[in-house]
Amino acid sequence: MPTQSPTEENYLKAIYAISNRQDGEEVSTNALAEMTATRAASVTDMLKRLADKGLIHYRRYQGVRLTDEGERRALRIIRRHRLWEVFLVEKLGFGWDEVHDMAEDLEHVRSDELVARLDTFLGNPQFDPHGDPIPTPTGQMPRTGYRPLADLNPGDEATMMGVLDHSTAFLQHLAQCGLVLGCPVKVSEINAFDRSMRVTIDAHPALFISYDVAKNLLMK
Ligand SMILES: [Zn+2]
Repeated sequence: MPTQSPTEENYLKAIYAISNRQDGEEVSTNALAEMTATRAASVTDMLKRLADKGLIHYRRYQGVRLTDEGERRALRIIRRHRLWEVFLVEKLGFGWDEVHDMAEDLEHVRSDELVARLDTFLGNPQFDPHGDPIPTPTGQMPRTGYRPLADLNPGDEATMMGVLDHSTAFLQHLAQCGLVLGCPVKVSEINAFDRSMRVTIDAHPALFISYDVAKNLLMK
């Protein structure tokens, strides 16, 4: 089985993430250029290479889709990423706001044996520190049924299960608001102008959450 470079792995992951976000629709070159912060021309080169390896379906001007093998590879990378995040938080004591960038490097260490032992060592965790499900060793992504806080209506109550943005800045902002995984959130009011929300959580009786933040919180 031919292997792929870290850059190629990042493209597979990016295609998987964008396609998931848009319900399996073909991913545009522009969306990929934006997510990987590269010029459209370099994206096109990379897509040709991935298509030659049988990892994506790609036709110019029509966007891309992962092949079954491409999706399996993407899920394997995501699995490694999320297991490393668990390791960094649970075993090395890092905060959940510190681990994403480290896991971006560690996910490219490709030994299956290492990943299998890491998984056993961690007790086969089901979720990473950000609440994301960890794909199974056979490459299945567990369904969570979470929905963004931004989709809730006034009067709705839900529990915070995950976050879509793993950046340090975002996670520190949540900590300042007292928003942590597992906290119950009740929507009291939604501003018709900018869709910001007034919510109540245990520690803060009235907290205002911007639409940008609400889009990135996953609830159940
Ligand atoms: Zn991460």
